[in-house]
Amino acid sequence: MYKIDFNREECLGCGACTMCNNWEFSADGKVSPVQNEFEEPGCNIEASEICPAQVIKIINN
Ligand code: SF4
Repeated sequence: MYKIDFNREECLGCGACTMCNNWEFSADGKVSPVQNEFEEPGCNIEASEICPAQVIKIINN
């Protein structure tokens, strides 16, 4: 199982991670993940790598 560790407080709201359909903008201009747990991380890996603030981490446990 993979889990998302997201430091939302430090999110810049740049939107780069929304290339992955698990990440959507919220009304406050920051993003939130649609799902927090996965069998396979899929595009969340790319979202983690592309984030300029490095606030998305994918944990495998
Ligand atoms: S890429 Fe990072 S900083 Fe940009 S909106 Fe997504 S989580 Fe926030």
